[in-house]
Amino acid sequence: MAEVKLVGVSKVFDNGFHAVSSVDLTIPSGEFVVFVGPSGCGKSTLLRIIAGLEEATSGTIEIDGIEVNDMTPARRNVAMVFQNYALYPHMTVRRNLEFTLRLKHVPKPERTVMVEQTAALLGLTDLLERRPSQLSGGQRQRVAMGRALVRDPSVFLLDEPLSNLDAKLRAVMRTEIRELQRRLKSTMVFVTHDQVEAMTMADRIAVIRGGVIQQLGTPQEIYDRPANLFVADFIGSPPINLIAGNVFNTDGGISVEYGEGKSWQLRGSGEGLSLHTPSLHGAPREMVIGIRPEDLEISHTSAPDNSQLPGTVVVVEPLGGETLVHIDIPAPKVSTPELQDIARDIDEGGLEDLASTQGCRFILKVPSSQAIRLGEMVGLRPRTGSAIHIFDTSLPGSPTITIQEPASAAQVG
Ligand code: ATP
Repeated sequence: MAEVKLVGVSKVFDNGFHAVSSVDLTIPSGEFVVFVGPSGCGKSTLLRIIAGLEEATSGTIEIDGIEVNDMTPARRNVAMVFQNYALYPHMTVRRNLEFTLRLKHVPKPERTVMVEQTAALLGLTDLLERRPSQLSGGQRQRVAMGRALVRDPSVFLLDEPLSNLDAKLRAVMRTEIRELQRRLKSTMVFVTHDQVEAMTMADRIAVIRGGVIQQLGTPQEIYDRPANLFVADFIGSPPINLIAGNVFNTDGGISVEYGEGKSWQLRGSGEGLSLHTPSLHGAPREMVIGIRPEDLEISHTSAPDNSQLPGTVVVVEPLGGETLVHIDIPAPKVSTPELQDIARDIDEGGLEDLASTQGCRFILKVPSSQAIRLGEMVGLRPRTGSAIHIFDTSLPGSPTITIQEPASAAQVG
């Protein structure tokens, strides 16, 4: 298996469109990397550049230390698995699996062994004489994987391979592919627009927006320390809770002035906070505060003090082990270009207009033992030790300043 290295890779299409901009990325041998981002962000283009199906406008692509820019896809020894499986409908599973081996003139006895080993690995042995039309979606997907595997490639490149499957099967195939990759210790690059897929499968995730890698890291790093507002909002389900306001330092924390003349006091680590957040000095500045659904707690009070953000419970969704609670906050909905990019991508059913009429809505994850009533007025505050992300929307890309609620201090109120 092989290392993949991209240095300064860019792609400008003939019409002048910059699909990929200056990507530097090293994928060590045996790593499972996921490219994730909204539709049109350039993730398929980047994958196709690695495969050799698309030429980079500038930059170099290396596979195992050898520059492959001028090599054909076949010489790069990479295998691609596509969303539509690309199986030959008139051929049996066996013939589909051995197709490339025939092209390479692998002798029949060897071919038979390789096909049967691959079929056994993927649980396809009993299906070898069927045609694709006689298979379920999951089985077809496995044949497509098998076709890639049988060639023993240096690198696997998978472009949304699960998007034609229903939700349950997707979850099963996610695990299957991941287990297979671990067993084979293969280098895999997997493209998806589904952040749950990215989080559950990746060793490392590259979050892409507008042809630029916004952040590269393990799923946990990206979730806990998102580099900017786009990454914070794109990764996480339910999404991070956001509120915009004028933010400034106070003794032992920050103050957020939101809505019309309301204020929310967030305690932070005092001096430490000032030290790490120079941009919070001086006059209050418009910023966006983000807190993950599990990092807020609800207190049942109709008259919250200013350490709590007031809201009204509008939806309660019990999930068994935990409950999702939707709370309307008396503040405007946060809208920035990066959030609009994500909303556009999610908006497949024309829901964007509906969502844009809503104000600021938080979704919290609380233990199912906590009784929450619909219509109830509540107060929200960060849980002890939880992270509060502050996004400076005045700077390009709205970068993050993360502060930690002090773990040891008692909660106020
Ligand atoms: P999706 O999830 O929708 O497939 P993606 O992130 O994989 O999106 P790409 O297919 O890489 O996106 O395309 C990136 C951008 O480049 C898109 O805006 C697309 O319209 C544009 N693009 C792709 N191919 C060409 C081309 N041949 N000429 C001009 N623009 C192109």
